[in-house]
Amino acid sequence: MPELPEVETIRRGLDKFVIHQKIQNTTILCDKSFHGTPTSAIITGIRRFGKALIIDLDNQKSLMIHLRMTGQLIFDPKDKAARFAAGHPSENFVDTLPNKQTRVIIELENGTLYFNDQRKFGFIKVLDTKDLRDDPFIKKLAPEPWQMDETVFYEKLQKHKNSPIKAVILDQTVIAGLGNIYADEALFMSKIHPKTKAGTLTKKESANLLKMAAHAMDLSIESGGSTLRDYKKADGTRGDYLDKFAQVFNKQGKPCPICKTPIQKIRVAGRGTHICPHCQTLRPASEIVSMCPAGHEDLARAARSVPEGHAETTSDAKEKGTTND
Ligand SMILES: [Zn+2]
Repeated sequence: MPELPEVETIRRGLDKFVIHQKIQNTTILCDKSFHGTPTSAIITGIRRFGKALIIDLDNQKSLMIHLRMTGQLIFDPKDKAARFAAGHPSENFVDTLPNKQTRVIIELENGTLYFNDQRKFGFIKVLDTKDLRDDPFIKKLAPEPWQMDETVFYEKLQKHKNSPIKAVILDQTVIAGLGNIYADEALFMSKIHPKTKAGTLTKKESANLLKMAAHAMDLSIESGGSTLRDYKKADGTRGDYLDKFAQVFNKQGKPCPICKTPIQKIRVAGRGTHICPHCQTLRPASEIVSMCPAGHEDLARAARSVPEGHAETTSDAKEKGTTND
């Protein structure tokens, strides 16, 4: 499942191709993947709310696109320039299009936008632009790290004061957009052990964590997220963006970039968690969440109690594989 920085990367990538282009025709190959009546109009902008992309049109309508688990957007330009392919990485970035996973085809003046979605959890929805902020998905979104006030964040931590800080920052109703990768990176950069009770962070630590959360996502966006931006060298495999910016995520056994202590992989709130045991020291026992198995499961559930649109079933979570574990 793409995380927020990947969706932002898709937004920036598509922006170059689709702005000021007219939608000439829409072909729906799967009813479940398209909600509402197709519309022909000129694209005026492309925005992002959480993990939803919004394509605004000049007829006061907008297309809301949710990629969910396996969604992909592939733009194939008429001039045979490189394709833009992003979303769930797979072989069909380089396939003939449309293919058997293509659900919606949107023809623009300068090329064709394919919405592929193997598992059909994603969709495109047509809505009136003025009603966008009343959409149940958008209404529920908590502020992202860039938007959140540090005092508000600190107060939110106090409401979950006995939970491990990692579970709290993964809770999309507390702060939107932080997935497993960015939670680990932000905690490392803040020198906070992920098992620390959220309520024991000082105001200064909490403010710094918020800053580092935004910084981790900025670094990922700058390195192109996990999307394949360049079709010419696309081989259907995942990009190496983690190598470019991640300091601890998936680096178990490798030396900490600060102190050279080997990075460890532990479990916190039911999620694989990467730490430097030297830089992220444990606090006195009273400030650490005890890791009894029952509490563990509760916290894991808390971390997964995410708004509609972010929701993932247990089986979906399993299919995320090890990369996001
Ligand atoms: Zn270290």
